Amino acid sequence: MPNPSTAPEHSLDHITPRDQAEILAQALPYIRRFHGKTLVIKYGGNAMTDPALQQDFAEDIVLLKLVGMNPIVVHGGGPQIDDALNKLGKKGTFIQGMRVTDEETMEVVEWVLAGEVQQDIVGLINAAGGKAVGLTGRDGGLIRARKMKLADKDDPSKEHDIGQVGEITAIDPSVVKALQDDQFIPVISPIGFGEHNESYNINADLVAAKLATVLKAEKLIMLTNIRGVLDKTGDLITELTPRQIDDLIADGTISGGMLPKLAGAIDAAKSGVNAVHVVDGRVPHAMLLEILTDQAYGTMIRSH
Ligand code: ADP
Ligand code: MG
Repeated sequence: MPNPSTAPEHSLDHITPRDQAEILAQALPYIRRFHGKTLVIKYGGNAMTDPALQQDFAEDIVLLKLVGMNPIVVHGGGPQIDDALNKLGKKGTFIQGMRVTDEETMEVVEWVLAGEVQQDIVGLINAAGGKAVGLTGRDGGLIRARKMKLADKDDPSKEHDIGQVGEITAIDPSVVKALQDDQFIPVISPIGFGEHNESYNINADLVAAKLATVLKAEKLIMLTNIRGVLDKTGDLITELTPRQIDDLIADGTISGGMLPKLAGAIDAAKSGVNAVHVVDGRVPHAMLLEILTDQAYGTMIRSH
């Protein structure tokens, strides 16, 4: 895959020192506004698999922390889980955007997310000068879950069995708060645990959304592998209300991984998270553009 962040048109050589100073100065109102505020970042899609974009992401997180914001990272890992399953001769299957998770798949999910992906992100953030700490939902009793009952989206009386996919029953954010107060950056794998200590695979968008709500986050930013939510003709929709989303789901415009993402986004927006954005993670420094400039990127989800 071409690497957009090192392509020549992204070189900053043509920007004069004066312009650079101007750009930095323009960030001040945003830094002031979000100082001390919690920002939940769902890290997924291509931004997570392209090495140059990974580096940008880690630097952005460290920068936000150093100017006084509290970024919390919740990561996905769809492509990495698929790779690992392929090596075992298994193929990932999805129903309505949710990964069907049998026992063997759950083992792979846990191992890939908590063992590999999370530790890679922690390493990158630390290499960029931050102090990241990896957590799963087990740590500090962060995410309790139970088996998800997935109703068919066309016939709600029908239910799909998708194995060890969990829905969140409770979040105890105390471990996250303790870490962020101590200047650590929490990096959370979307794995929950149940009544009998069993593990659950939870869609990372849903974890990020619930965490944003419980932490009363100022912003929820979902980095993904597409420009934002697209309409039927493939054009970007810059703003969406819950009603409009329902209509787009009903007519099939929104499907697959966008379904849990927007379900989470609506939940967070309705529960008081001030700004909820689905943003293109393939754009270098997408997060900084979203937080520190007045450029509108991707799709903003409104509460009503
Ligand atoms: P991630 O969770 O890693 O960001 P997903 O694959 O789970 O990525 O979700 C994003 C995907 O949702 C897009 O790549 C696209 O294939 C799919 N999708 C379905 N409907 C839409 C839509 N209306 N607009 C944009 N993407 C959509
Ligand atoms: Mg997804």
